[in-house]
Amino acid sequence: MMIERVEAITFSHRTYTQRDSDGHNHPGPEGTGSSTLLQIICEDGTVGQAICRPTDVRPDVLERYVRPNLIGESPLLIERAWYAIYKWQRLSGGQLTDRTLTAVDLALWDLMGKVTGQPVWKLLGGYRPKILAYGSTMCGDDMEGGLATPEDYARFAEWMLGRGYKAIKLHGWMVPMPGAPDVRLDYKACAAVREVVGEGFPLMLDPHHFYPRSDVLWLANKLAELDFVWMEEPMEEASMSSYKWLTAGTRLNILGPETMTGKHWTRAEWVKHDACDMVRTGVWDVGGISPAMKCAHMAESFHMACEAHGTGAGNLAVALASHNCTYYERGLLHPFTDYDAPADYQNRIDDEMDADGYVHGREEPGLGQDINMDYIDANRVNHD
Ligand code: MG
Repeated sequence: MMIERVEAITFSHRTYTQRDSDGHNHPGPEGTGSSTLLQIICEDGTVGQAICRPTDVRPDVLERYVRPNLIGESPLLIERAWYAIYKWQRLSGGQLTDRTLTAVDLALWDLMGKVTGQPVWKLLGGYRPKILAYGSTMCGDDMEGGLATPEDYARFAEWMLGRGYKAIKLHGWMVPMPGAPDVRLDYKACAAVREVVGEGFPLMLDPHHFYPRSDVLWLANKLAELDFVWMEEPMEEASMSSYKWLTAGTRLNILGPETMTGKHWTRAEWVKHDACDMVRTGVWDVGGISPAMKCAHMAESFHMACEAHGTGAGNLAVALASHNCTYYERGLLHPFTDYDAPADYQNRIDDEMDADGYVHGREEPGLGQDINMDYIDANRVNHD
């Protein structure tokens, strides 16, 4: 069986978040956004699907780099397809992004699941049928009753405990929020949450990403006193030397790199140079499920955890298939939003969580997404 067609359907849907001037999402009034459904279709009609941003699969990128490397090829040779497309990145002048690779790789794994009749998390090795989620908060804000003060974080942590979460990660206050960045304010929020959840409850922090070394070391040592599990990305990650310095200077676990380019190759360099204690991967950061699993296996070989970054069916599959992944990241959460409500284009969310804080692998073939095709068909804005 061969791949016959690759299509991208862009559609509009309601949104309930808005981005601040530095790109962070906060709760907002109802608005309209657009997303794209990438479909890789075999000659017998079997379809692999991934939801992505419209810019991830622009018409010229699909036509120049994706279709020529997929059409007529076997849907079972994902590694071959990934490399065939990836090799065009070098001379694409930045046009072929890691996010394009991710969208294609996710749709290919979904297709593989549907062709073989198996869920992707099992095809990847299937380490566990369920995994604990950590509740991942939105960044701090200036909304009354939102996440504006350390007390707000404490109150929200109490709600998360009631919802069943067994671990919590805070995102601190980022520019342009009033008073940000401020490591002392971050610490106050972390201390207030520790007070509410009690000793031994797993906590993590993802603060402002551009602190200087002096602030970061102070914060890391204070979080170690609070028995935090890890801190991630407190500085620009292009400076691996700074992370090597930080990792050597504190007993707090440093997790990384998250947004740094370079896929599994960069993660291997960080491990080799002792620039992190725990490895970060995420399907939208490294170019798909395929390289994310390489990060996990590389880290495992050094007795290191590899924690999946970000929400969604692809990251859930990686987390369920990796021996050395501790948690699934569920969020972003905020007192004013309902994470459990499906988007317009979903019949259900990808990562339903039980009352004990576990997200379960689904048994349906593929990634386990339940996409509302009627909605997408009725709300198309273009079709390539
Ligand atoms: Mg992060």
